Amino acid sequence: MTCSHLDHLTAVEPATPDGCQDCLITGDTWIHLRLCMDCGHVGCCDSSPNKHAAAHATDTDHPVIQSFEPDEKWAFCFIDQATIRSVEHEIERSYNKLRS
Ligand SMILES: [Zn+2]
Ligand SMILES: [Zn+2]
Ligand SMILES: [Zn+2]
Repeated sequence: MTCSHLDHLTAVEPATPDGCQDCLITGDTWIHLRLCMDCGHVGCCDSSPNKHAAAHATDTDHPVIQSFEPDEKWAFCFIDQATIRSVEHEIERSYNKLRS
């Protein structure tokens, strides 16, 4: 399983580092966070009540999300339904550069 969107992957600045952008507005809670690799939207995962990360991917055609959990560097493409492990080091490197 490959993803055709990996060429676009760059380090993005999380728009709302404190939590799900949409849940923060409505006062809802979430389980885990996902970071949109196109625009930096932070949304909640599919285990969360509102599934804002998936909704954002559908609404915006931004298919690739990265886990925004501190210890997780995997990414996932909603279009290709592909979990991306091969680029995690590359993402991590960009990510660390962004945070330093
Ligand atoms: Zn893809
Ligand atoms: Zn949310
Ligand atoms: Zn986005």
